[in-house]
Amino acid sequence: MFSNIQNTSVQRDLHTHSNYSDGQLSPSALAEKLASCGVNLWALTDHDTVNGIATAQVAAQQHDIQFVPGVEISVTHGKKLLHIVGLSIDSEESGLQLGLEKNQRLRDQRAERIGEKLEKAGLPGALAGARRLAGSSLITRNEFARWLVEQGVVKSLDEAFKRYLKQGKPGYVATQWMSLEESIALIHGAGGVAVLAHPLKYRLTTAWLKRIFTDFKAAGGDAVEIISGQTAAHQIREMGDLVNRFELQGSVGSDFHSEEQAWLKLGQMPELPGSVDPVWRHF
Ligand code: AMP
Ligand code: MN
Ligand code: MN
Ligand code: MN
Repeated sequence: MFSNIQNTSVQRDLHTHSNYSDGQLSPSALAEKLASCGVNLWALTDHDTVNGIATAQVAAQQHDIQFVPGVEISVTHGKKLLHIVGLSIDSEESGLQLGLEKNQRLRDQRAERIGEKLEKAGLPGALAGARRLAGSSLITRNEFARWLVEQGVVKSLDEAFKRYLKQGKPGYVATQWMSLEESIALIHGAGGVAVLAHPLKYRLTTAWLKRIFTDFKAAGGDAVEIISGQTAAHQIREMGDLVNRFELQGSVGSDFHSEEQAWLKLGQMPELPGSVDPVWRHF
């Protein structure tokens, strides 16, 4: 048993995005926002890049936040897309950087194909638009979604995904990201811990979820996000039990991207179940 003493003065958020990937805030603005919400243990986990870490580290210090360098790696496992978060990584480790560059190249190639497909669907200029919105940061589907909103093609990011960007929609391009094993090896090679992100977002059946947990554990995975954004009490209990059964650790993160996610109450994460081994003990 791990008696997670209810210490309300510690607020952790170990999954967030800045504008180095598809978040809207700079690392400094994000640090300021989180500090104002009472967060004092923070991981920046941008998609497939660690370029925001150095700025985030400085900003965190200015706000008295304990900073955890992180990354969220896109993985293809079987036919499934998984996100593996690396926490407490050495973001300057060369193996990790080289590995992430592969996913970054795949992102560029995919963006070109998304642009072509949207053009065929009667929407020219999507690639240029998404590139403009991404600036010097890497391209995700979020930039295409924002461009579709900006052009008045759709009213919301959600509608952009539903009508154009999700699997089966005109702008969807299947991508073979790095393997589960490679992502975990890269994270471990950089001294970090590997966390299966938002297990409930993959919309898997319980049988499939257990299969993914089995594979993740076998590949050397360390922890699972038990609390991701808004998670119901019964989901926290059930996920906690599953995580314990697989002898994995538990993590907590908002997956914050922008202030448009007004429903997301930053700095108000519930505690992990007391029986769960918290990932932050292992940093
Ligand atoms: P990518 O990694 O480039 O495929 O982009 C996936 C990102 O798009 C996710 O990390 C989310 O931030 C965002 N996303 C996925 N689905 C939706 C949705 N239905 N509405 C808004 N954002 C979404
Ligand atoms: Mn994202
Ligand atoms: Mn994710
Ligand atoms: Mn995320």
